[in-house]
Amino acid sequence: MAKTPKTGLDSEFERSLITAIYEASPDGILVVDDREMIVAHNQRFFEVFGISSDEIPGDHGGVLTSKSEWLLLSRALELVSDPEGFRWRVEELYANPQIEEKCEIAMKDGRTLERNSRALWGEQNRYLGRVWFFRDITEHKKIQDALLEMSQLDPLTGVANRRCFDYRASGEFLRARRFGRDLSVVMLDIDHFKRINDRWGHAAGDKVLKKLCESVQAELREVDLLARVGGEEFAVLMPDTNLDGAFLLAERLRRCVMAQELIEGEDIIKFTASFGVAALGSEDKSPDDVLKRADVALYAAKGAGRNRTMRESPG
Ligand code: GH3
Ligand code: MG
Ligand code: MG
Repeated sequence: MAKTPKTGLDSEFERSLITAIYEASPDGILVVDDREMIVAHNQRFFEVFGISSDEIPGDHGGVLTSKSEWLLLSRALELVSDPEGFRWRVEELYANPQIEEKCEIAMKDGRTLERNSRALWGEQNRYLGRVWFFRDITEHKKIQDALLEMSQLDPLTGVANRRCFDYRASGEFLRARRFGRDLSVVMLDIDHFKRINDRWGHAAGDKVLKKLCESVQAELREVDLLARVGGEEFAVLMPDTNLDGAFLLAERLRRCVMAQELIEGEDIIKFTASFGVAALGSEDKSPDDVLKRADVALYAAKGAGRNRTMRESPG
């Protein structure tokens, strides 16, 4: 049978448990009383913040003098990226003891700390103070960012992948519907790409894909999204752009692709692409409907001889 932990603030057990938590916790811990005075902290608090305990004279066994406390807070404020926001939020939490918070704090040295905080309540819900936990989550954030990037970007060309395109397209679809805005999609596919691979090899084909992305990207606005949606197939999402505008832009992209040159040994590789353009219509249920029409237009452009832009057929 599980033992029931002893209770009672004065118990030897509880004191030793608290000491163990202070000493072994991966978190920097700071305890503040109801007058916002620091009543306890652990050594890890200094380490997590990157403050040398020499900088803060006083008793580091737990209790700080008011001078040391002031030094500690001003030093912490120097180290965070947004001292005003930090101070403002801390004051807000002191004013609202019921708030339990978990947030991330950017540090000037590029690290990220996670802050957890909650009030301490005594008998009859008397507010006793607040405990703060600070944890360095920099490595965790780096891995998370890398995973996010991997899940959204095409590794060869560095442009968005299909998943990212679909996500952005559904957001833009809803926005366009809600605010009655235009939204267009351009699909493009490199012409006779297989021949490029066959003649100059797969690595040269890869360079063509990268070159196409660089040149197309340079022509787009920041709000447009270029994505690789297939082997040598790309889609461009164009918010606030009607069919005529998208057609003009696609023509500009086509001429820009045509003008690219890639040196491969003694040869200069030139390439072209075909384009299909479609715009959001009142009947469309999802961005896929627009994409499908752009795809049909693209294949019409292929059928009509390649290196050209076709718009969706009316109706
Ligand atoms: P079309 O003008 O009709 O589009 O002809 P195409 O040769 O471009 O089209 P097809 O679909 O016949 O061939 C596409 C080729 O693209 C075949 C495939 O091996 C190649 N491919 C797909 N992904 C990559 C890639 O990442 N790198 C390279 N180098 N080639 C790729
Ligand atoms: Mg092709
Ligand atoms: Mg293709």
